[in-house]
Order: sequence, then C-alpha cells, then structure tokens
Amino acid sequence: MIYLDNNATTRVDDAVLEAMRPYSTLWYGNPHSSHRLGRAAHAGLEDARRSVAALLAADPAEIRFTSCGTEANALVIRGLQRGQRRRVVASAVEHPSVLKMLERMRTRGEIELVTVAPDSSGALRPEAFASVIDTNTFLVCVMLAQNETGVIHPVQEIASIARESGARVLVDAVQAAGKIAIDVTTLGADFLTISGHKLHAPKGIGALWVRSGVTLDPLWLGGGQEFGLRSGTEPVALAVGLGEACRSATAHLESMPAVAALRDLLEEKIRDSVPGASFHGDSAPRLPNTASISFPGWTAPELTAALDSEFEICASAGAACHSEQVEPSTVLRAMNIRRETAIGTVRFSLSRYTTREEIVATAGALSALNRRSRPGRQPEEVSA
Ligand code: PLP
Repeated sequence: MIYLDNNATTRVDDAVLEAMRPYSTLWYGNPHSSHRLGRAAHAGLEDARRSVAALLAADPAEIRFTSCGTEANALVIRGLQRGQRRRVVASAVEHPSVLKMLERMRTRGEIELVTVAPDSSGALRPEAFASVIDTNTFLVCVMLAQNETGVIHPVQEIASIARESGARVLVDAVQAAGKIAIDVTTLGADFLTISGHKLHAPKGIGALWVRSGVTLDPLWLGGGQEFGLRSGTEPVALAVGLGEACRSATAHLESMPAVAALRDLLEEKIRDSVPGASFHGDSAPRLPNTASISFPGWTAPELTAALDSEFEICASAGAACHSEQVEPSTVLRAMNIRRETAIGTVRFSLSRYTTREEIVATAGALSALNRRSRPGRQPEEVSA
C-alpha cells in the first residue's frame, strides 16, 4: 500500500503513541485534581502546551487545546466580539470549516461576507484584500497553506492590511503546521489553528493560538478549562500526543526539502509520461508535500478508484461525485480552472514517511493507467 493522502490525515507516529500511553494507564488523573495523579496529568498537559507553543514560536499561555481544527476555527468565528462592525473578509479558498460557518452567519443576517479569489496560480494578492478590508471589517480569515494545492499565502502582508483597519486575523495553519516553519509573531495574526491528525498525532485533538490580550467568548460554559475558553476536562493523553507530534515536527522540519524533492520527482515523471497533464499551484510558493495534478480524459474519482483498486495507492479526488455528476472542487473553481481540467484533478500529498520507491511506483502506475483505453474514451484520444 502506498499512502499519498497525508493532507487528509496522517499515520500516527510511534513515538506519539508511546508518549500518550502512560496518560491512559498510569497518570490518568484529572489535570485539575490536586492529588498526585492529577498533578502528573497536569504536568503532562502543560508540557504538551509548551511543545505546541514551540512549534509556533508562541507563548504557552496563548495555546488552547481543542478537539480538532474545525472546532478551533469555529471558536474564533463564533466567539469573536464584533462590536458595531459587520464585515468578514475571507479568502475564497478557505477550508469549509471557515467558509461554511461564515456563509451560515451571512444567511442569518449576522455578518456581511466578502470573499477574495486567488489568481489562476492559486496565489492570493494582498491588494485584493486591501480593496475590501475597511473599518467595518472585524475579522479577516486567510489560511497559511491551501489544503488542495498546497499554495502558501502571503499572510503577513494581508494581516498587516487588516491591522491597519483594526480587524482581527484568523490564520488556519492546519495544513502548514509541521511542513513549514511558523512564527506567530512574524505572521502578525491574532488567532492561528492547527490539527493533530495532520501532523502524525491522533484524530480528536487540535489547538488554537490566541494572541495575548485578545479575548473570545466561549461557545459553551462549564468548568472553565483552557483559560475559560473551552470548558470540558482536557483529553490529556491526546494533548500529550499532540505535544509529542509538535516536538517531532519541529525536529523534522529539516527533512522537508527531501519531501519536496520527492514531490518534484513525481511531477517530473508525470510531465514526461502523461502528455497534457497540468499542475495546479506549481508556480506559487507551495508546501513541500503537495501536488495537485490534472489528468486529461479522466475524472478524479475514476482515476483514484483505479489507483486504489489496481495499485493499492491512496490519493485524493478533489472533485466530488454527486449522483453520477462529477463536480469540480470549489478551490479549483475559485482559481478559474476549466471544468474539464478541474474534474480530472488528483491531489497527492506526501509525508516524511514517503519513499523514493513509492514515488517511482506511483508515477509508473499513472503512466500505465494513462496509456490504457477505457470505456467511454475513444482510442484516438489515448495519448501516445
Ligand atoms: N483547515 C484545513 C486547511 C484543513 O485542511 C482541515 C482538514 O482537512 C481543517 C481545517 C479541519 O481540520 P479537522 O479535520 O481537524 O477538523
């Protein structure tokens, strides 16, 4: 099996599992209990908070544990007080956990929503944000790296424009964390979100960085855990897992150029063997692990199914299948990519575990599939 769907989720690191185990079997106390088991759990939780903070060059007191990236984004979007301001400006390629939430608030008449589209390379232009951020804007949402294309956005410039108008900035760094270096101070944001399962920690844990001095209303009330923002007893073992994953990610950042070299090799081989293949986001700054490639004559669901069933290769079809009809992804649509190109786009996302042999085998499988005549495809359409 070859796993090239690491932007969807990642394998849990063995060291992460090891680090978590004693917090379920030995030190299972409630981290807010004052006895020895409580103190041991509390120490693990706070150590994890320090590791998460270190990955983001942040202060540990600014980290709040959440259940996932979606919840961390929601805490900001729903919890930010907006005063008299009504406008939210968001990139048109934000994750649904941001866009759908904002869209719902818009349809309920709670906010005015303005989205900013990228250019066809996937890049966002700060000038486009400058033209719509005004003194009525209370929140600007811009992800650090796009999940489908891997394109890295100019967050620092956009955040500086937002600050001039007094708007807060939410940076979804769920895909960026662990793949590129992050420094919250340099970014100039107010909130930044990450998710454990994208960086070799388990599902069920995420974190939100909140700039010191900035407040959010909690979505629910209770015991007042996580600095009053997220009541509910912390899942200490999961938090410890996230902490260990962040520690390991910090150490592995230096192996990311090797991951990028493998991604580039995959693209090079496909360029050579699949005439007409097109590459999204490759002219913009990109995450080291992501390739978004369109295969002419294929729909992505068809191609990923063939890769899976015949070659045991897991990749992602950005296009969604709705009752026989294949719909292009909203991200590729926002980039103004032609429909036929968009529906044939597959995302390959590597990790530090990906090997050269796996990349060579994947390129070989794609080349073989591309040479094959398929039902519904005319032989003359088959490229040489
Ligand atoms: N933001 C981005 C950019 C993502 O890619 C994802 C997940 O795919 C999320 C947020 C949501 O994270 P989670 O699955 O932890 O809720």
